[in-house]
Amino acid sequence: MRSLTVLYRGVLSSCNYGCGYCPFAKHLESAAERQADHASLLRFTQWAQQQSDLALKLFFTPWGEALVRKHYQQALITLSQTAHIEKVVFQTNLSGRLDFLQEAERNKVALWVTYHPGEVTLADFLRQITDLMAYQVRFSVGVVGKPSHFAAITALRAALPQEVYLWVNAYRNGSRLYPYQPEQLAFLNQIDPLFNINAQDYPSRGKACLTGEQVISVDQDGTIRRCHFIDKQLGNIYQENYREVLKPRPCSRTQCYCHIGYVHMPERQLYPLFNNGILERIPLAVLSEK
Ligand code: SF4
Ligand code: SF4
Repeated sequence: MRSLTVLYRGVLSSCNYGCGYCPFAKHLESAAERQADHASLLRFTQWAQQQSDLALKLFFTPWGEALVRKHYQQALITLSQTAHIEKVVFQTNLSGRLDFLQEAERNKVALWVTYHPGEVTLADFLRQITDLMAYQVRFSVGVVGKPSHFAAITALRAALPQEVYLWVNAYRNGSRLYPYQPEQLAFLNQIDPLFNINAQDYPSRGKACLTGEQVISVDQDGTIRRCHFIDKQLGNIYQENYREVLKPRPCSRTQCYCHIGYVHMPERQLYPLFNNGILERIPLAVLSEK
C-alpha cells in the first residue's frame, strides 16, 4: 500500500501559554474563526478516513495549542480508530486534560511534547507526564535550549524517567543560531546526545527531500505545499487528481534547520536513526547509548 505523511496546520493560532520566544500564538480567534477551524478540521478528518488505499501518517503541527480544544481531541480519537491510518501525532504543550486519550487507539498515537519552563511548574508538567505514561501513549519531551532555561533543563532531565528521550532545540533569534559558548554546547550535548543535529543550518537548495512526494503539508483549505517552509502551492487534497502532484523535486530553499523539515532529506540519513519515531522525534538507539 502506498504511504503518505501529512502535516496538518489549520487556522488555529491561539495558545493558553505566552512563551516570549514563540513565533506563533499571538492571535486570539473570534468565535467565527474557531468555528471555521472546527469545520476545516472535520473536513480534513473525513478526507483522511476516505483515503483507504493509502497508509497515512498524520502530524498536527498547529500555530498554537490544539489539544486543549475538544474538536482536536475528537479528531485524534477518530483518526486513530481508522484502519488505514497508521499514526496520529500532535505537537503539544501538554497543558490540557489527557483523559480523552483513553478513547483513542493508543498504539497509533504519539505526542511531541514541549516543556516551557516559564509557563508551567515542573511539578505540574511531571504530573501530566505521569498520566501520559499511565495511558501508554508514546511521546518525546523537548525544550528550547535558551541559556535561561539551563537550570530547568537540568531539573527536568533529573526528574524524567531515564527511558524518556529529552530533545533540545537550539535557541534561535529568528533564523539565526544563538552563539553558544563551548561549555554551553557541552551541557546541551550531554542532555541531548542528538543536539548537534538540530544546532545546524543545512544547505538544502537543489538537494533531494522527500517532501512533496511522500510527505506533504496541508492547510485548512486543503492546499498542498511540500513543507511548512516553502509557500509554493502544489495542489489541493480536495481535488480528485491531487496525487498527480506528488513527485520528487529538489528543495528550493537556501537552508533547512527544523527537525520537521530536514529529517526528510535523504542525505541527512535520519530515517534509520529515528526509525518509526521520525514524526514524534523518538530516536531508536539514543537511549541504549546513554
Ligand atoms: S506553548 Fe508553544 S504555541 Fe504556545 S506560546 Fe509556547 S511556544 Fe507558542
Ligand atoms: S529541505 Fe527543508 S525546506 Fe527544503 S523542501 Fe525539505 S523540508 Fe522543505
